[in-house]
Formats: sequence, C-alpha cells, structure tokens
Amino acid sequence: MSEMINVAEIFGENVFSDAVMEQRLPKKVYKELKKTIEDGKELDPMIAEVVANAMKDWAIEKGATHYTHWFQPLTGVTAEKHDSFISAPKTDGTTIMEFSGKELIKGEPDASSFPSGGLRATFEARGYTAWDCTSPAFVRQDDTGAILCIPTAFCSYTGEALDKKTPLLRSMEAVNTQTLRLIRLFGNTTSKKVLPSVGPEQEYFLVDREKYLKRKDLIFTGRTLFGAMPPKGQELDDHYFGTIRPRIGAFMKDLNVELWKLGVPAKTQHNEVAPAQHEVAPIYAQCNVAVDHNQIVMETLKRVASKHGMACLLHEKPFKGVNGSGKHNNWSITTDDGINLLDPGKTPHENIQFLLILTCIMKAVDTHADLLRESAADVGNDHRLGANEAPPAIISMFLGEQLEDVIDQLVSTGAATSSLKGEVLKTGVSTLPDFVKDATDRNRTSPFAFTGNKFEFRMVGSSDSIAGPNIILNTIVAEAFAEACDVLEKAEDFDVAVHDLIKEYATKYRRIIFNGNGYSEEWVQEAERRGLPNIRSMVEAIPSITSEKAVKMFEKFGVYTKAELESRAEVMYEAYAKAINIEAKAMVDIAGKQIIPAVVKYTTALASSVKTVKEACKDADVSTQQELLLESSDLLTETKTALAALQDCVEKAAAVEEGKKQAHYYLEQVKPAMDALRTPVDKLEMIVDKDMWPMPSYGDLIFEV
Ligand code: ADP
Ligand code: MG
Repeated sequence: MSEMINVAEIFGENVFSDAVMEQRLPKKVYKELKKTIEDGKELDPMIAEVVANAMKDWAIEKGATHYTHWFQPLTGVTAEKHDSFISAPKTDGTTIMEFSGKELIKGEPDASSFPSGGLRATFEARGYTAWDCTSPAFVRQDDTGAILCIPTAFCSYTGEALDKKTPLLRSMEAVNTQTLRLIRLFGNTTSKKVLPSVGPEQEYFLVDREKYLKRKDLIFTGRTLFGAMPPKGQELDDHYFGTIRPRIGAFMKDLNVELWKLGVPAKTQHNEVAPAQHEVAPIYAQCNVAVDHNQIVMETLKRVASKHGMACLLHEKPFKGVNGSGKHNNWSITTDDGINLLDPGKTPHENIQFLLILTCIMKAVDTHADLLRESAADVGNDHRLGANEAPPAIISMFLGEQLEDVIDQLVSTGAATSSLKGEVLKTGVSTLPDFVKDATDRNRTSPFAFTGNKFEFRMVGSSDSIAGPNIILNTIVAEAFAEACDVLEKAEDFDVAVHDLIKEYATKYRRIIFNGNGYSEEWVQEAERRGLPNIRSMVEAIPSITSEKAVKMFEKFGVYTKAELESRAEVMYEAYAKAINIEAKAMVDIAGKQIIPAVVKYTTALASSVKTVKEACKDADVSTQQELLLESSDLLTETKTALAALQDCVEKAAAVEEGKKQAHYYLEQVKPAMDALRTPVDKLEMIVDKDMWPMPSYGDLIFEV
C-alpha cells in the first residue's frame, strides 16, 4: 500500500500565503500589505521591513538557506540568482540570518546577458527586479536545498520592461479599468476590481531517461530530428483517457504532491491522444498567479520526471507524425465579488451586458487576430499551427449553436427574442439521470472557443509561457471595452445605444465566427474569402506586434512602448534563428558521427555476407541482400549529399545580417535543407538492423516508458 496523502494538510504548505501573513504579521502591517495588494498601491518601506523579516523567519523554518528574486525574462523560462541569508561574519566568527525590506522589494541581478532586443546596452546593464506582491512567495525544495522564491517583475534602469511579467501586470490594469467602466454603465456599483481568470491545461510527453540520454537530438533541442514512425501510431486511440500505467501513476502522484505544496491547485490529469502523452490542469487563478503557477508546473514536471528515471518533453512536437503538445489557455473575467462576466445566464438574449461583452470580444479577436496568432508563435509551435495539425493557424471563434443563433437573430432582425434551450439529452441508461445538454457543445477544432463561461484559446504551445497570450487577450479586450464605453457614456438613451452597438458589432464582426471543422481544407479557402489572416509561421507572425495598429493600442493602454515592442520583435527573430541553428548543427553532428558510420557498418556487413553466402554456395540467390545493399548505399549517398548541403547552408546563414533577414533565411533555406537530410535517414532507419541503429527508435521511446 502506498502512503496516505492528506491533501488539505500539505496544500500550500510552502507558500507565504494570505493565511500565513495574517498569522505572522502584526495586524496593522498585515492590513497595510493587504491594501497594497488589493489596491495596487506602493509598499511603504517600513512595512516591507517587517514583512521581509517575517518572510525570512518563515522560510528558514522551512529549511531555506537562500532567497531569490524569481523572474521571467524574454527567454520564456524563469530565471533566478540565489543569495544566502547570511550576513558578514561578526568579529566572534558567527553570522546571523538577514533579509531586509529593501532586498524583498528590489533586486539588482545584473543579468545583462538576457535578451533585451537592444533595450539595454550592456554598458548600462542595470536591470532591476521588483516584487509582484500579488503573487505569493514560496519555498521551493530541490537538490539546491530550499530556496525562498519571490515572484518579481524585471525592468531596466529607465523603467522599460525586460520581461513578460511587467506588461502582463500592465495589461491586467487595463482590463480592470475598462471593465469597471463598462459594468458601471449597467448599474454595477459594488464590484471594486476586475481580474482576468486563467486556467491553462498543460500537455507533455514522458520518456525513459536512459533512452532519452541516447538521443542527442532530444538533449540538445527537445525534439527528435530523425525518426521513422513506428508500425503502430495513435490510430487506435487506445491511449487517450486510457488507464494510467503504474510508472506514470507514481510520477503523477509525486507531481501532484509537489504542486500542492507550492499552492498550485493541480486538479485534472489524464493520458492524452498520443502514446506517452499526458495532461495536467490546475483550477484557474487570477492571471498573473496562473502564469507563475504554469511556470512552476513546467519546472516541476521536469524535476519529478527526472526523479522517476524519466524525461519530460515539453516541446510542441517531439515526434514527427505523432500528435504534438499544446496548452489550452482558458480565460474569463471575474469581479472581486465573484461575478464571472462571461457567464451568459440561462437566456442570453436577456443578458444585454453579456451580449455587449461577447460582441466586444468578437471585435477584439477579429481586429487583432494577427496579434493572437503571434502570441501563440514559438519555434516549436511552427510544427503544429498551420502544419496540417490541430489547431489551424487561422484565428476564428466558436460560439456554439445557442449563441451563434442569438448573434444571427441580432444580425438579421436587430433583436434577439429567444434563446435555444439546451436540449434534454437522453442518456438511454435508466440508472443515470437525463441531463441538460450544454448550450455550448464542444468543438475541438476551433482555436478560440467559447466553453460555457470562458473562452479557451487553444493555440498556445506546450513549452511557451502563457504570459504572452494573456497580455494580448487582456489588452485587446480592454481596447474593445474602452471603445464601447466611449460611445455608451455619451449616449442620451442608453438602452437604444447599447442595442445599436451590439447589433453593429454582431454584424461587422460576424465573419470571425466559425462553428465548422477548423482542420478542413474548405475552411482555409472560406477563411480566405472572409479575409481572415492565415499566418503560417512564427517568423511571419512577428511583424504584427510592431504594426501601427498594435503600437497605437499598446501605447494607449500603457502595456508596451513602441521601443519595448520593437525589442521584442528583435528578440523573437533572434530566438528563432538561434533555435534553428542549434537544430541544424545537431543534425549535422548526429548524421555525420552516428548515422553515416552506422550505415557504413551495416552495408559493409551486408556486402561481406553476400560474399560469404556466395562462397558457401555459388548458386544461392542473394538478390534480396544485393537489393538492400543497393538501396542503402543509394540512401547513404543521398544522406552524405544532403549533409554537405545543410552544412553549407548553415555557414551561409551565419553570414546573413542578424534579425529579421537571418530569421527568414533559417525559415526559407535552412529548414528545407534539414528536411532534405531527414528524409533519407528515416528511410535508412527502416532498412538498417535495429541492433546497428545508433539510437532508440520512436517505438522504443513512446511505447516503452
Ligand atoms: P476541459 O476543457 O478539459 O473539459 P474544464 O473546462 O473543466 O476542462 O477546465 C479546463 C481549465 O479551465 C481548468 O484549468 C479550469 O480551472 C479552467 N476554468 C474553468 N472555469 C474557468 C473560468 N471561468 N475562467 C478561466 N478558467 C476556467
Ligand atoms: Mg478545456
């Protein structure tokens, strides 16, 4: 029997939570801190001093020896620099543990090597981290010991955001301000604050660590650069939601415990579509906390996997031809008094406020489809979006039958007079009650789907930070709300004005709604007729963030300055070029040092066996061996040629001007050269003796975890 887990007891035990603060801080200090957190005011240095001291004592009780400002640079992963609590030894040789208010609030990690896209010249390399007190500090226990982690934003000396957290917090303020404006118009005087709620569903693969270590491509790039499909793929669908095998079960159990301790409300877990693919999802939280939690989830997945003798692959496409991994970003807006503003109620046509919000979101998504698409772009996701895999690269919105019908009524008659009632779904099993069918049924092929009381943005890549997509969602919705409020606040007759506005938006932005099969070729053509953008790669998506339309919006809401946007574009071009460069070089290395020698060995063995057989019996039929020899020798030549071409291409790429030009070179020249090398190698894998092939196969990796 495995040991019992008392979830209620361990949940949040390593978090400096509200409850801990209330317990450990003097009442007055606690109240002041709460005010700071709730009203977003600046923290009084005296208060910070007391909080820091309490935090230190608590952390030390948890075994912490160091603290770190935990931040999220533009690399998409988190960064930290540890400082121990010890102070300079006294004359008697002893030391005391110290942590000041200043050290809590502000850090100066230098950190000049993080990508800043030119925002920060290295001679003025100062970068500051500042405590995001709305996301709780926590103690993380791992091989480094126990570290007090303080979630922070990372800015330059002149206040420019060098990270993903700062613009995220700014975008949350924009949503707060504009949504409050909107709900005031509908007579809400009680809600004081509005926050986006986010629940990300995280997909990942688990492979055996021993096998992982035999695949240089996985080690260097997170995905396989070679690999032939196993005879059994995922055709049988026997893995999806299937029984969880013991080794994976033990992993999931540990994962949950680790996450719960850190206050991450891990809720659901299951096997995903592909063999060796799984998913974990927490209960949703306020946007910035959800972003931090998702970073913790990704880090914990890797750490726990390694403890269980496995490797966790977060890459969007670790295996060619096998379903990739994504991250569904569930998003809604909630007031501080618990109203979900995306809840349509039972009869949506009566819920004018909901209809205004809905049509504003239609407007936002249609107007800024390019930005949403860009927010889901990362190097790995290029293998999914627009590459014949779910979800498509075209942004559209799924509303479900009931809401689409309401929109259609609005467009055709100007008023919605009824709502389709959820049909009663007969289960056909007498012991089960009949239940009301969701008014919004599910459409798994839509990149942006309304699922009852939230939108689910399904394009995000599994390894990506969810900060980017939520910055965009928050800002584009804030803009649409602001523009609606500009009209409605001036209206003489509010009822007429809001009615007209809803109708105008429903009509104008109807084209973004699509309830059909998003994977079909017909949709690609239909979307083109509707004028919806179809952006096929990360490199082509990047310019959208510096378009005039984008800069105007981001500056208006104080989310990004033009310089910050331009720097991000630079960083992304660079990241793309670097990633493909590493992949290409890894391919050259693996093909040259592992694959070609293996094939040479195989063909040599084959040739000598032909000779041996012939010597033993000169009439023996060796045509099969000879054919294999011919085929593998031809493929070997093809491999050698493609390898030389790729090497040449990589050299040329290095000479191209860095930035946009170079990124395009990698996309248009280097990637095809990589494909050209992969093709003969994958064919060779099917011919060469398994014993001689220098690395574990797809079958070994995904069916034998
Ligand atoms: P699935 O889509 O797989 O059926 P759910 O819809 O239950 O699963 O939830 C998926 C994620 O959405 C979870 O993280 C859940 O907490 C989150 N979620 C549920 N309601 C909301 C909401 N109002 N706002 C944001 N996220 C939500
Ligand atoms: Mg979902």
